[in-house]
Amino acid sequence: MSIAEAILEILKEEMQKHGAKRLRRVWVRAGKLSMVVPDSLRFCFEVLVEGTELRGAELLVEEIPLKGRCHDCGREFESHTYVFQCPQCYGVNYEITDGQGIYISEIEID
Ligand SMILES: [Zn+2]
Repeated sequence: MSIAEAILEILKEEMQKHGAKRLRRVWVRAGKLSMVVPDSLRFCFEVLVEGTELRGAELLVEEIPLKGRCHDCGREFESHTYVFQCPQCYGVNYEITDGQGIYISEIEID
């Protein structure tokens, strides 16, 4: 629930900044590592906006796979699980380059 609340706060600020009256849609990028469950995030969001000025807004969640770069051979790769290993040299010496955190990528307002 707290993630949905945080998103809502950002949205309210953005709306104010742009003098927007109505929020149509919001796209959120959720990294695999952020442990966000898209369906439950959408549900929380809908519950939170009900009865507010953001009522009726649609939340779309895009799941971002985990991406990393191998320190041993330099290969960049992605993983759809939480097990991370370089597919080229099978090294486990890597840095995560994407797929962490959650952020708003786009909003559609009136
Ligand atoms: Zn490697």
